[in-house]
Amino acid sequence: SKENNKNGYSFYQFSMGDETERNILLVNDLRKAVLKNELFLLYQPQYHMLGKHIDGVEALVRWNHPKYGVISPLEFISLAEKYNIIDELGEWVLKTACIQFNQWKKDGLILDNIAVNLSKKQLLNPNLIVRIRDILKETHFNPAHLTLEITESATVENVAEITEVLHKIRDMGITIAIDDFGIEYSSLSYLKLLPIDYIKIDRAFINEMEQNAKSEGIVKLIIEFANQLNLDVIAEGVETKYQADMLKQFECEKLQGYYISPPIKSSELKEFVFDKVKI
Ligand code: C2E
Ligand code: CA
Ligand code: CA
Ligand code: CA
Repeated sequence: SKENNKNGYSFYQFSMGDETERNILLVNDLRKAVLKNELFLLYQPQYHMLGKHIDGVEALVRWNHPKYGVISPLEFISLAEKYNIIDELGEWVLKTACIQFNQWKKDGLILDNIAVNLSKKQLLNPNLIVRIRDILKETHFNPAHLTLEITESATVENVAEITEVLHKIRDMGITIAIDDFGIEYSSLSYLKLLPIDYIKIDRAFINEMEQNAKSEGIVKLIIEFANQLNLDVIAEGVETKYQADMLKQFECEKLQGYYISPPIKSSELKEFVFDKVKI
């Protein structure tokens, strides 16, 4: 900030160094975090508009670091990608999500779907397809209940390669969603080339719906556009009744966001699904 200008330089350098040191520590610890059982998943409910019920969840990873406490994936996923820990981490997430989903079913909590995030780096790993197949087999998981979320930015480079991988994933019976749609590239034409099922509208657009008529217009357009391509839409980051009402009017298939529920623990989900949601 401006106030820091006079003596801000050394402070800036100090905090940069500090940050790097923390990152080095985190990377070392992250390599062991899976084995030490420090990762855990939260699950954010997704509301199905026509069915008027929670029909699925998105699994979101957290790291309970022994020294720093719970760390956000925004901090450690990029480190995991950079230092080649992402494949192992991603496999742990997928396997844990599949096991949890099966357990819910045994407990009488029947959901249609669980969504798991895949990073771009994972998509480019030639072993990915075999690993997914192995995990589904090991956990006796029906791929019809699995969605893999891929960020829009991951699909923009290496289009041919990514398209091939997505075809293989889809051939297994897995659903594919494009995450964070609309922010960076907004290139609508390439979408029709990709083998996908869902678009997740980035929460930046949802967030601005009330204050900004243009953003609301964009949301409406994306939904209409998706309909024409036979894709379904999830709105993420839905926080207000206004947003939920408008999205209903626009015939958006699913809602995800704090208005429905924040990400919650597995143990909280059962209670939640049956009691809370009314739109
Ligand atoms: P994402 O996939 O876009 O996930 C949605 C993020 O938005 C989550 O943050 C969620 O907690 C947050 N969120 C949900 N509803 C609302 C809302 O109404 N308002 C606001 N302001 N935020 C909301 P989270 O859990 O911190 O995850 C951040 C990102 O980290 C995820 O963004 C995803 O890209 C990545 N991530 C999380 N888990 C995994 C994972 O297992 N593997 C990979 N590769 N990436 C992951
Ligand atoms: Ca996601
Ligand atoms: Ca997203
Ligand atoms: Ca539709």
